[in-house]
Parts: sequence; structure tokens; C-alpha cells
Amino acid sequence: WRRIRWVSRHFQRKPYIVDKDCIRCGICVEACPVEGKALKLNRPAAPVYDYKKCIACFCCQEMCPQKAIHVK
Ligand code: SF4
Ligand code: SF4
Repeated sequence: WRRIRWVSRHFQRKPYIVDKDCIRCGICVEACPVEGKALKLNRPAAPVYDYKKCIACFCCQEMCPQKAIHVK
């Protein structure tokens, strides 16, 4: 079980923001369905993820008007 946790922690696909494309609109934060939000506004910088909360639903990526959110 420890090994499965390790694998999911290291290989699960997760969203990230390409800073130069982000206009800090906050739509991704609004879109996140997780209670307490898995990403937070961080103006004047781009929003930051809390990957411990992220359930990898990719709503944030889908809603971003700038297509600034990619998945790795
Ligand atoms: S929705 Fe896209 S452009 Fe807007 S703050 Fe989020 S990542 Fe940046
Ligand atoms: S992938 Fe889903 S859970 Fe993770 S930050 Fe984006 S909207 Fe929130």
C-alpha cells in the first residue's frame, strides 16, 4: 500500500499554469469544485495549486480562457 501511494503521488497527472499565458483572471479558482479550493489566487502572481487537495478533475484547465493550464 505504501508503494501504491508512492506511485500515485509521483505519477498522477496534474495541472500546472504556464505563467506567461496566465492573465490572473481567477476563473480557474472559481471552477475548482474541491471544498476549500485546490488552487488559490496569488495576485500579482499566477494562482498556486495545493496538489494535496487536487482531485485531478481538470475543470480549471477546461475553464481557463487563456489555455494557460497544462497537464503534466
Ligand atoms: S483561468 Fe487561466 S488565465 Fe485565468 S487565472 Fe486561471 S490560469 Fe490564469
Ligand atoms: S484539476 Fe480539478 S481539483 Fe484540481 S485544481 Fe483543477 S479544478 Fe481543482
